[in-house]
Amino acid sequence: MGGLIIAPKARLLHGHDWVYGTEVRAVYGDPQPGDVVALKDQRDRFLGSAIYNPHSQIVARRFSRRRQALDADFFRRRIRQAIELRERRLPGEELLRVVWSESDGIPGLIVDRYRDVLVVQTLTLAMHLHEEEITAALCELMQPRCILVRNDSGILAAEGLEQETHIAHGDLPTPFVASTGGLKFEVDPGHGQKTGLYLDQLSNYIRVARHAAGKYVLDCFCNQGGFALACARGGAGGVTAVDISEPAIEAVRKNARLNDVRLNAVEANAFDLLKAESEKARNGAELKWDFIILDPPSFTRNRKALTGALRGYKEIHLRAMQMLPVGGLLATFCCSHHVSRELFLQVIAEAAVDAHCTLRLVEEYGQRADHPVLLNLPETSYLRGFTFELAPGR
Ligand code: SAH
Repeated sequence: MGGLIIAPKARLLHGHDWVYGTEVRAVYGDPQPGDVVALKDQRDRFLGSAIYNPHSQIVARRFSRRRQALDADFFRRRIRQAIELRERRLPGEELLRVVWSESDGIPGLIVDRYRDVLVVQTLTLAMHLHEEEITAALCELMQPRCILVRNDSGILAAEGLEQETHIAHGDLPTPFVASTGGLKFEVDPGHGQKTGLYLDQLSNYIRVARHAAGKYVLDCFCNQGGFALACARGGAGGVTAVDISEPAIEAVRKNARLNDVRLNAVEANAFDLLKAESEKARNGAELKWDFIILDPPSFTRNRKALTGALRGYKEIHLRAMQMLPVGGLLATFCCSHHVSRELFLQVIAEAAVDAHCTLRLVEEYGQRADHPVLLNLPETSYLRGFTFELAPGR
């Protein structure tokens, strides 16, 4: 087996599992892209087994502290452990991220379960090369009706991989209904953005909706309407759901019928809508909503985009606060690991200064338990959310 000698200050020596190109002192044994390599320090001490891709910025990702091959046994064992974790923490869920990459010890492999359909992403070269063992292990352990390999993420380019989608097992079913937390969603694994549902948010719909009874709710960036539907079910006085995507708004309407709730689904740019409505509110128009939900896409693909992203985050918070009465609620989420909890709170606090209001923390949220956070890999923690109440004193 070939290997890499790691520089003394490399993050791997401080607990992380990634090796950047700049942290490699030497390569020995002519490893090929996608191979398993040994990691060693400069004193020839063994640090673990990693997958190797010299074409990526992250040239190696450690997946074991021992000598370990990527064989059928390995995939069967790690995937079984991942399934067992979900059975313990989210029993009976039919919408699940079954395998989440590093957090389950399989860097680059994502497996989402939509009832008996599995959607697989192989986002590292090594996973891409081992698709056969992966699908065999999934068939053995889960007996799915279909396995769809859906490699359509922009991050594939970083590994030098092409985007492509194919069926690895069974037949792709027509759209079907799956439920979670008492809500029904239409699922269409072959289409929809990122397979349609944001699994990391599923447990937050109900938690947010617990505050919605009697409220007039505006769900911005609603996608398929998770928050909006849960609020409508939770006894909201009225619900408006906004998304810029036409298929998303169609899905919201379909899901509203499925769940037998009434809501107003609007295809619009949320920035424009918030701007227009906050101006009306500032000009003394009657306030339409007393519960606003903000769950925008991650505006930050990388660190460089951070400043613009923070400006965007601040703007929508400021507008939302201007539209809310004292006692009104603001639930807000940020799904970028470049934005820390502290930074996110700071942006919200700055918006509150400009909106002349005081925020009282009601509840805090994170990603669902099927997206486990590893302490040594801060990148695994990316979803932060809060519900605030506008305290008296405006
Ligand atoms: N709350 C959703 C997830 C939101 S993901 C859920 O739990 O499922 C972000 C959504 O924002 C996507 O559906 C995308 O279509 C939408 N979006 C992106 N830019 C937008 C904009 N400017 N205005 C409104 N929606 C936008």
